[in-house]
Parts: sequence; C-alpha cells; structure tokens
Amino acid sequence: MSTRYLQTLRHPVTVEGRGLHSNLPCRVTLRPVEQATGLQFLHTPTGTLIPAKAELVSDLSLATTLSRDGVKLSTVEHLLSALAGLEIEHAIIEVDGAELPILDGSAAPWVQALTEAGTRIIPGPRRVIRILRPVEVRQGGKWMKVSPYPGLRLRYTIDFDHPAIGRQTRELTLTPEKFRRELGSARTFCMDRDIEFMRSKGLALGGSLDNAVVFSAEGPLNESLRFEDEAVRHKMLDLVGDLATLGAPLMGLVEAHAAGHAMHIALVKAILADPTAWTWADVEEKAPAHRGFHHPVPAAHPLPA
Ligand SMILES: [Zn+2]
Repeated sequence: MSTRYLQTLRHPVTVEGRGLHSNLPCRVTLRPVEQATGLQFLHTPTGTLIPAKAELVSDLSLATTLSRDGVKLSTVEHLLSALAGLEIEHAIIEVDGAELPILDGSAAPWVQALTEAGTRIIPGPRRVIRILRPVEVRQGGKWMKVSPYPGLRLRYTIDFDHPAIGRQTRELTLTPEKFRRELGSARTFCMDRDIEFMRSKGLALGGSLDNAVVFSAEGPLNESLRFEDEAVRHKMLDLVGDLATLGAPLMGLVEAHAAGHAMHIALVKAILADPTAWTWADVEEKAPAHRGFHHPVPAAHPLPA
C-alpha cells in the first residue's frame, strides 16, 4: 500500500496490438474518470460496460476473460496488473475487440503507457479489503491462502515438471516501484511441447518469441530471459491482475503454490464470499515514507528500505 488517495489517469492513452490467442487487432484507450468508478471496460462496438469484477469472470483456461450480456473480453490480466500494480484503480478502458493486445507478453508496455498518461487524484478515501483471518482454496496439490498482513505481500511458488523451469519461489511486498522493477516486465511463458496442442484448439495463434518465452527441455528458445526466475515473476504479475477483480486493493499476505488464473479467481471469490474474513480499512500513510499533502517530510529524511 503506497497511496491513500484514489488515483485515475491524468490524460487518455491509446495502445494497439494483436491478441495472443486470436491474433486479431485490438485498440485500447484508457480514459480518466471524475469519480471513484473502479476499473471498467467499455466494449465500444456494443457499448457494453464490463466492470473488472470476479463475478463477471467467465473463462480461465489460459487467460482471464470477463463477460457480460454476451460480450467477452479476454486476456485482461496484464493490463489489470499494470493498473493495480501502479495503484491506478479508477479508469474507463475502451476496447474495440474481443481480446486485449498481448504486446511483448509482459505488463511493461502497459506500464509505459500509464506512465505517459500520468496520474491524477480524485475525491474520496482509498479503502482496502483488510484480511482479518485466513482464507484458503485447494485443488489437489495446488493451493492458495490469504492471511492478515499490514500491506500486500505475495509469496508464489511454481513447481513444473520441466527441466528448464522446475521449482521457483519469490516473495515481495508490493509497491508501485517494486511492481515496475521486479514484476512488470516478466513475460508470459509456455513449453514448446504445448504449442501444437494450443494451436490445434485455435489458441496462441498470435504467439511468437516476440510475445512469450518458450521453454524447450534445454532452456528458453528466446535469446535471453529478463530474469533468471522470469516464470514465477510472471505468475505474480498475473496474480496482481487477477486480484484486481476484488474491486478494491487487498491488504494481506497471499501465498500461492502451483496456482494459475482459475485458482487466483477462486481465492478472490472465496474472500468476497466470507465477509467475516475481512473488513474495509483506510490506507494509513506510513510517515515518513511518503511526502503527503498535509504532512510534508523533508527531502533529506531517511527512507525506510
Ligand atoms: Zn500472464
């Protein structure tokens, strides 16, 4: 938790590209809002407004899809991750296609677009969902758990039966700076052995080494990785995006073991379904970490790590 203010964009910004699965072109224009609206997609061909809420998530096989009134928007998670990671939680997202652009497979191009657009504060307090007691979801050896923590801390483990990926664990307390530095540029990934199967189902038609890391048994087919553990970092990026479907920022420790979109959303729904497990809370400014409007801190003041 960094800001206690509600943030929207300062200026509109447009991004265009093709969908990973459909390979169809899509134009996305993010627009500022005047009041607290949350994040809402507007499918411009039909005029359908689709809030980024877990109750509207319909398909989770390889990406996160939102649906309303027969309109589907897929692969929304990387943009939602960039918005949530930068704590821009109120905006209209105009989309003219059915699948958001994959761009380079990470959230970095979205982060860049949002940075160009800038941020602006809108009236009202920023309220978060503060976890009071643990909530868990399990499916075989896969599980997720959220427990009380004074911030948003993520601990993610993946354990692939694949020599080039294997077991990776990473943990961090999320801030916009850490999102930019440690998660935002981690690319989506797959295994070469899965590509034929995905293509046979009409998926990953827009996939290439320009927008995904492809692992063979010997290692990545791409020239290089952006991080040694890029795979687990991307899963954390996906998690940040899926958590945005709570409709409010989360204050808690989220642990994930061998999870994916379906389990991320299952946890979100389990949290929302149990109002005794959480409470609304205001974000308390962690003086002296930030220079707030009312309590300016001298620039020379030491910042905690
Ligand atoms: Zn992803």
